[in-house]
Amino acid sequence: MGQNMGLTEYRGKRDFKVTSEPRGTKRSAPSARSHDLRFVIQEHHASHLHYDFRLELEGVLKSWAVPKGPPLKPGVKRLAVQVEDHPVSYGSFEGTIPEGEYGAGTVRIWDEGTWNSNSSSESSARNALKNGVLKFELHGRRLRGQWALVRMKRAKTDNAWLLIKEKDGEKST
Ligand code: MN
Repeated sequence: MGQNMGLTEYRGKRDFKVTSEPRGTKRSAPSARSHDLRFVIQEHHASHLHYDFRLELEGVLKSWAVPKGPPLKPGVKRLAVQVEDHPVSYGSFEGTIPEGEYGAGTVRIWDEGTWNSNSSSESSARNALKNGVLKFELHGRRLRGQWALVRMKRAKTDNAWLLIKEKDGEKST
């Protein structure tokens, strides 16, 4: 799920007449990219509090819901459930999704910044995700250093990942 679907699934789940979330547009092709790739973590007080971890890649935000929030200590692993791709403009969204709507509750930005994968290009990062292991560096206000996303094997669904803090010399707050 969430693979190569563009924003169809994202839009299908939301009524933009009711929610103030952005409808979004798919950004230009990677070759036209002239900015650093963004990441954002949104604290989402929905029916269950979780942290939405989003990495910009190929014109969308690849997204995971992390119930316990991102790990800060090396070696710590947190469940990260991949959800539908979000538009890049979602990375600036803060507000309240009305009751009865998908994801109802308040959203606020917990951290944001830029990221780079240990692969050299967006297409190699895409392949790393497809293969279930993406290693990357975050340059945020709170999170700095190395993390990895690893798809869980033998999970019942293919959307279960682990977000893992890797050893580095950085200190996150
Ligand atoms: Mn969420």
